[in-house]
Amino acid sequence: MTDQAAVEKRLAALRELIDEYNYHYYVLDDPSVPDVEYDRLMRELIALEAANPALVTADSPTQRVGASTTMTSFAEVRHEIPMLSLDNAFSDEEMDDFDRRVRERLASEETVEYDCEPKLDGLALSLRYEHGRLVYGATRGDGYAGEDITANVRTLPSIPLKLRGEHFPEKLEVRGEVYMPKAGFERLNNMLTNAGEKTFVNPRNAAAGSLRQKDPSVTARRPLEFCAYSVAVADASHLPDTQSGMLEQVQQWGFRINPEMRVTRGIKGCLDYYREMMEKRDDLPYEIDGIVFKVNRLDLQNQLGFISRAPRWAIAYKFPAQEVMTVVRDVEFQVGRTGAVTPVARLEPVFVGGVTVSNATLHNMDEIHRLDLHRGDAVIVRRAGDVIPQVVKVIPERRPADATVVELPTSCPVCGSDVLQVEGEAVARCTGGLYCAAQRKEAIKHFASRRAMDIEGLGDRLVELLVDEGLISSVADLYVLREDQVAGLERMGQKSATNLIQAIDGSRRPELWRFIYALGIREVGEATAKALAQDFGDLKALQEADLERLQLVNDVGPIVAGHVHSFFRQPHNLETIEALIERGVHWQAPETRPAERPLAGQTYVLTGTLQTMTRDEAKARLEALGAKVSGSVSAKTSCVVAGEAAGSKLTKAESLGIRVVDEQGFLALLAELAG
Ligand code: NAD
Repeated sequence: MTDQAAVEKRLAALRELIDEYNYHYYVLDDPSVPDVEYDRLMRELIALEAANPALVTADSPTQRVGASTTMTSFAEVRHEIPMLSLDNAFSDEEMDDFDRRVRERLASEETVEYDCEPKLDGLALSLRYEHGRLVYGATRGDGYAGEDITANVRTLPSIPLKLRGEHFPEKLEVRGEVYMPKAGFERLNNMLTNAGEKTFVNPRNAAAGSLRQKDPSVTARRPLEFCAYSVAVADASHLPDTQSGMLEQVQQWGFRINPEMRVTRGIKGCLDYYREMMEKRDDLPYEIDGIVFKVNRLDLQNQLGFISRAPRWAIAYKFPAQEVMTVVRDVEFQVGRTGAVTPVARLEPVFVGGVTVSNATLHNMDEIHRLDLHRGDAVIVRRAGDVIPQVVKVIPERRPADATVVELPTSCPVCGSDVLQVEGEAVARCTGGLYCAAQRKEAIKHFASRRAMDIEGLGDRLVELLVDEGLISSVADLYVLREDQVAGLERMGQKSATNLIQAIDGSRRPELWRFIYALGIREVGEATAKALAQDFGDLKALQEADLERLQLVNDVGPIVAGHVHSFFRQPHNLETIEALIERGVHWQAPETRPAERPLAGQTYVLTGTLQTMTRDEAKARLEALGAKVSGSVSAKTSCVVAGEAAGSKLTKAESLGIRVVDEQGFLALLAELAG
């Protein structure tokens, strides 16, 4: 291939790619690559065209702004004055060049005065007022024609429908940025995540997606704001002669302008302002992606004029990127201190938001499915401010052939116990709570706590210290801890050590429910621990119970039963319990022995009206005898107590061949069992 042909081929490829990215960004509000990648290609195209001016075509993305509006569903609005883009600078040198070019064109040695404006990261909007009333609002579109989004624009509280004051021009066009503040963006994305819907990559896309809605009531619910930055059509006699003065005037008419705006002199002033705002960037309630510097005098702006897609009197000096592209090398699972098993993306290290990032949290499996993330995928990673880096999007076109699906591990990567994900819950958890090294500290703290084994003096800090010093690694180790080991610890006198060992010793005979509660089984609080202790009377029986049997216990549904069942199926948990027993921990049986609870394991259903007692009394009597009282009849029902006017439950019991007793029979049963 000749050099010329190679250049033409590259030009065509770049233009095609950039057009495609423009379509995703401007029409779909869903960028397919991060801005840095887009900017890189655009700069390559600009450089290639500059070196080959004969090959510049009118339809090249370098000659145009945004994307055509012909593909959207809004009516078209022709801009009386085109809405252009801005030239970009990415370094101090490029800023110097800009200032030099301005002075050369003005043929002036004088220091130029610049208006410095934060570059809000949203989308441009033009608002047309006639006789002080809003006539329409339009997007930038391709710069010459935009979309008529008047109905949506009217829902924004910061856009005046009527201008304030009296001295305004008959026809006025105010331009500015519609943006979504950071807090609103977080809220919106959380809401979309919870609803299982697609989230927005960044506040800019959220603003664009929200403003360009078919249904204005959707726009009305989105937290959008408008900030003015220029006047396009106005009778000049109404306007001051500087950019900053013009914006102050616009403010008088009822618009918000940026409070950070400042006038400065020469390039040094610009660079100082740029650095100052870079420091401030994370603390602002909205996102800015750079600073726009504008020659402040309007007569000089006119003198400088425009090139095809941008004014010569302004430049946007971009801040370092907060979104970049990288590759997910692997997805690993981490176990948190409460057993939550969380996927983490191991990334090809990448510089973003001021730091090198090599990990990003993926939250849970739902998030992985929502993103459709595979190992090996190219992704967009975002890090704004101090926020933990996030994978905001997968770039499916760049998925390699050997990319692999991410699955939840079946066993804990730390301790090997089963990983359980309860249906309807996003978080998966390790079931080896009593043993797992990741959960060790929390498990021991809970075990020692007042409502559990009640070991006085063993507070959270001391548990941390004992574990960090390697003196204990499980709850069972507490019972072999020696006084001299404890006394040697930081801020532990001999006396406290003696007291602690005594307290540990004194905890060796807890009530059964406390012991069950102390095990820290998920969803087993005090009340459930008591119910389990009452019902089973002994740990062994509880340990061996299957799911069905567990659900016969009062207030134990399938989820709690699942947690209890899997807890006792983990060899490591059982080993720890064994070790506790060996080291002298033994519980006291509950006061009511199972023998005194003759209906334990049986399910009763009450139906119809009883004459001698209320339904609640009957329920309490049955429960005291160990029965579970359920509201519906199934094959597992042991007996139905049918009072007067019993209906469908009785019929169902009869059809299933379940034992039925009437009130007399019920009273006889109670008398017999209580006897
Ligand atoms: P731009 O965003 O670099 O600058 C022009 C825009 O800045 C204006 O239209 C206006 O909306 C905004 N602006 C904010 N504050 C302003 C102020 N005070 N004064 C004037 N304007 C202000 O240019 P652009 O043409 O809108 O977009 C190009 C940029 O968009 C690219 O550099 C790239 O970062 C991004 N982009 C990304 C993709 C992608 O696929 N990721 C695609 C297209 C464009």
